[in-house]
Amino acid sequence: MVKKLPKVEIAAVGSELLTPYFQDTDSPYIVAQLLQLGLSPSFRTIVADEEEDLIAALQNSVSRADLLFVIGGLGPTEDDRTREILAQVLGKKLILDESVLRAIQKRFARRGLEMPPSNIKQAKIIEGAEVLINHQGTAPGQWLEEKGKIIVLLPGPPQELKPMFEKYVFPRLEKWRVSQVFQLKLKLTGITESQLEEKIKDLYPPSSLCRITTLAYPGQIEIHLSAYSSCSQEEAREKVMSVEEKLKPRLQPYIFSTQGESLEEVVGLLLRQRHETLAVAESCTGGLLGHRLTNIPGSSEYFRLGIVAYSNEAKIKLLGVSPKSLANYGAVSEKVAQEMAQGIKQLAQTDHALAITGIAGPGGGTPAKPAGLVYTAWGGENESQVLRNQFLGSRELVKFQSSQKALEMLWRHLTQNFI
Ligand code: ATP
Repeated sequence: MVKKLPKVEIAAVGSELLTPYFQDTDSPYIVAQLLQLGLSPSFRTIVADEEEDLIAALQNSVSRADLLFVIGGLGPTEDDRTREILAQVLGKKLILDESVLRAIQKRFARRGLEMPPSNIKQAKIIEGAEVLINHQGTAPGQWLEEKGKIIVLLPGPPQELKPMFEKYVFPRLEKWRVSQVFQLKLKLTGITESQLEEKIKDLYPPSSLCRITTLAYPGQIEIHLSAYSSCSQEEAREKVMSVEEKLKPRLQPYIFSTQGESLEEVVGLLLRQRHETLAVAESCTGGLLGHRLTNIPGSSEYFRLGIVAYSNEAKIKLLGVSPKSLANYGAVSEKVAQEMAQGIKQLAQTDHALAITGIAGPGGGTPAKPAGLVYTAWGGENESQVLRNQFLGSRELVKFQSSQKALEMLWRHLTQNFI
């Protein structure tokens, strides 16, 4: 018998989520968790704090959904009305829960404060709902089972919602699981979306076997493979693996991660394993490469030095770039990129060096050296390599792609994985 899929909905409450300044990141998080259970939502609503809008949105969601997540608007302030309006929509009372109230009072007392009266409303629970403890904040979540429907009320701040979801919500959803899921994320660099399409277009499996989603980012492509099985996770895994086996031989030179790591993480891991060190000299990226590398915990094991040599003078003084090279070829040239890499390597006495010099744009370009022209260099033991790249897009995009290309060069040398 085919199991009827439950209707799942998410309603995120908050006028700030309808402005360009705040994103609803809680809903995508919940969707990703639901996918693990083979569930996907039919509706995702973002609704303002206004009473009238909230009543309309919640009435709709409650009437349609079998499983409804309502996020945010549980705070102590006047405009936090989700709890009250949901209770009203459901025709239920709000009951003060003394133990929740004490927990909130204790939270304030730990900070040497007295709980303001406005927080009392956070201890009010919808009649029949179970409390989901908030270990990170004051507003508890609530789990309500009502006429075969489940309504889950969750606090908005992601640092409160995520641990609560993981600990108290996800385990309870297990009985709603419709299938076992297996997902694999391949991360690629050094290939464009159209080149990728050419390489794999004859390999697309039927969607009943495995779903392939391709996401293109600057300097990086992700291929998400997901398969479902009503029997076992092993069967779902086998489906994904049968597709991955076909894709891998064609994509091997570009895949840097199958575990979700970033390129800087992968490079860091390789340097660590090899007990090797790195220094970087940057011009147009203004420290972005060093920033990305040092975002990785433990990077001090292999990252020795980063210099942002923006001016010609700095390139000469700090990196030993020859004034002749600068005069003859210009700061954005193969020769200068190579000398920057050599210079930083010598200065830091590292096993590897990376250097970047280019025109981030949008101005500053010439017909011979247009905006987006960037030279990236790698220097190793007795070898070096320089690439001429022509990137497109905004200043920030050019900077990011430059740092990505430099990391890719190092990754290729560390893995001897050349195209
Ligand atoms: P609190 O008790 O902390 O006020 P709350 O449930 O009332 O919790 P809100 O007042 O709605 O939450 O939002 C508090 C903050 O949480 C917002 O300013 C925003 O930064 C963040 N937030 C709220 N909803 C979301 C969401 N859907 N996605 C991401 N962040 C959110």
